[in-house]
Amino acid sequence: MPRLCVDFGGTNIKMGLADGGEVLRSVEFPVGGSAADLDAIMAAAVRLGADATEVDAVAMAVPGLIDPGRSRLVLAHGKYDWMTGVDLAAWARDAFGASAVVENDARAALLGEAASGAARGARDAAILVLGTGIGTAVMADGRLLLGPSGAGGNLAGHTTIDWRGPVCNCGNIGCAEVFGGSWALPDRIADVVGSGAGEESEHWRARLDAADAIGFAEVFERAAAGDPVAVQVRDQAIRAWSVVAVTYTHVVAPEVIVISGGVARAAAEVIPAMRAYVREHIWRVLDVPRFVVADDPANSVLRGLAVR
Ligand SMILES: [Zn+2]
Repeated sequence: MPRLCVDFGGTNIKMGLADGGEVLRSVEFPVGGSAADLDAIMAAAVRLGADATEVDAVAMAVPGLIDPGRSRLVLAHGKYDWMTGVDLAAWARDAFGASAVVENDARAALLGEAASGAARGARDAAILVLGTGIGTAVMADGRLLLGPSGAGGNLAGHTTIDWRGPVCNCGNIGCAEVFGGSWALPDRIADVVGSGAGEESEHWRARLDAADAIGFAEVFERAAAGDPVAVQVRDQAIRAWSVVAVTYTHVVAPEVIVISGGVARAAAEVIPAMRAYVREHIWRVLDVPRFVVADDPANSVLRGLAVR
């Protein structure tokens, strides 16, 4: 019997019909940002050829912390505020008459990469999903960390890397995300512009006033062209990701670290810098983890749910 897989992503909801651990076909549609998304999922399931009698399980990945019973999202931001506390497993049982499981998205992505992707065969692996935030998950001795709270391995992006640093959106001080999450880019750019760096600041002053979000793609592109503000902000982000990789290496000593998320597109630039930083800063007795890019970052969550 096939399984329905649902990836609640930041921009789109992706759905796949999987059998035997493989995604057979998939559809996606934009996130609505309300409980109506669940109705849209039922309609899309019909388009996938999976009506209520045809799936034996529904696996869902959500962008936030899940409860230890794996039935609901306990903390989310933005478009998924409405979902906090909703019993998704109960919804799936009602809607599809199927067993259900809810998984954190970074954990699902790591599972996908370990099962059939860039970390295939690894028993000790970690993932950095670099984009709006820093999503993390850890596999130790073949098992995904979960812990009694359900958050095991998920919050490495909120390790403090500067205890005198800016306050994070989580309330902690100087988290890696404050320097390496795109949500914080306006503040970091403003810091550099405020310090009086370069005449290129005109561009960033205008961008900070504009309503549309600033992403790493823009920062990397301008840094490559020599924009001094972009260079500082880019290098600071790479340093933040590298520091998390050092912490990963010291805490769980993974054999492989998977880089995924939007920043994976700049992997050719990012990974050598991270590898060099880690090599220089970890304890000498440890091996430098292998850094790999997710095979198909947009689909690693669905592939993980297919084997979950
Ligand atoms: Zn934080």
